[in-house]
Amino acid sequence: MAYSYEAPVSQALFERASVVTPGGVNSPVRAFRAVGGTPRFMVSGTGPYLTDADGRSYVDLVCSWGPMILGHSHPAVLEAVHEAVARGTSFGTPGEGEVALAEEIVARVAPVEQVRLVSSGTEATMSAIRLARGFTGRAKVVKFAGCYHGHVDALLAAAGSGVATFGLPDTPGVTGAQAGETVVLPYNDLEAVRGAFAAHPGEIACVITEASPGNMGVVPPLPGFNQGLKDLCRENGALYISDEVMTGFRTSRAGWYGVDGVEPDLMTFGKVMGGGFPAAAFGGRRDVMDHLAPAGPVYQAGTLSGNPVATAAGLAQLRLLDEAAYEKVDAVSAEIQALVTEALTKEGVAHRLQTASNMFSVFFTGDAVENYADAKRQEAFRFNAFFHAMLAGGVYLPPSAFESWFVSTAHDAEAVERIAAALPAAARAAAEATEATEDTGTTGTTGAAT
Ligand code: PLP
Repeated sequence: MAYSYEAPVSQALFERASVVTPGGVNSPVRAFRAVGGTPRFMVSGTGPYLTDADGRSYVDLVCSWGPMILGHSHPAVLEAVHEAVARGTSFGTPGEGEVALAEEIVARVAPVEQVRLVSSGTEATMSAIRLARGFTGRAKVVKFAGCYHGHVDALLAAAGSGVATFGLPDTPGVTGAQAGETVVLPYNDLEAVRGAFAAHPGEIACVITEASPGNMGVVPPLPGFNQGLKDLCRENGALYISDEVMTGFRTSRAGWYGVDGVEPDLMTFGKVMGGGFPAAAFGGRRDVMDHLAPAGPVYQAGTLSGNPVATAAGLAQLRLLDEAAYEKVDAVSAEIQALVTEALTKEGVAHRLQTASNMFSVFFTGDAVENYADAKRQEAFRFNAFFHAMLAGGVYLPPSAFESWFVSTAHDAEAVERIAAALPAAARAAAEATEATEDTGTTGTTGAAT
């Protein structure tokens, strides 16, 4: 073990977990395989801080992979949850909370005329694709390499870095039949999309893209890319699906749509809208959503969809997210970005800090990163050294070089100071890292479940 600090209680818990749970975790990136070392088992969270089972506290720059935009244990969210729980935890009937949450989403995001609530981002994208296929009567789906849309069989296909490649299953268990209707293209390449439509006339049901990708690190769309996708879909009778599970209600009041204004036919949401509970959604044009059961023939359902506790948490969180809240998150994000850049520059570490409003990540390369192939060219081993030095300094980063960092309204001056104090040693560790000092030999995951 190359790292000098210990986490005996987390280590013991991880060993216990590994007996009863594959790899010791319930979502792969949590296992620290990309960066090596012992995953920290967290016991509590308050504001910008997490506390682990060994009693160490960390400034949290993961924020549960995005949802905790108000920080942990926000009093208003907790109060809404306590109030909801006191009334019962699940009824399997409609309830007013679901209506209010749907109204809030529709009011914020103009292209969403109707919305259906589900329990995870995976369910949202899976259902949106089924609906697009049902609506258009076509089979093929276009996605981009490096974009992650949850562990939907058809969307795990990421093989083929060239032009218009038929997806091959990227994981055992996904059959050729499930992935064979997926066309995987390089991100930010409109010519490739044009080529796919030309190669498969009348066959493509939809193009799905992260509104601004954060799952290969932060790789924003080039100017005009999303509009180009929308136009090509329109010209070819396909639906444009913008996956805002990560960016939704985070990058602005109306998510990435609020930033670039490109109107999708369907959108997917998750993370922030659940306030830390399992709640997600898909929505869009009324004439498309009308095809969903029971209004239409495309089946979709869920025992816990619109759960009263989850909807109460999500609604409480969204109601607190006014313009002032986004200004605060953007400002603290910019402050942290500047500190990271300064520290790495001082140590002469080649890097690119890329942003999508308050989402950001660092690529350990001197070159621009515009797609998955670019992202993979970075020196991920430098990130791994950087990650562990930050962890030792009390800052919890995403345990992979291919993930966005997240901040919240709760990241105050004290939290920023702690980050500033940890950065010099981390930048030095990144500068001194060599591939040979890598702890595990794995170089990160991308497009992976968190
Ligand atoms: N879509 C995007 C853009 C995501 O970032 C994620 C998860 O990280 C998903 C879909 C899947 O969401 P979930 O993990 O809630 O299934």
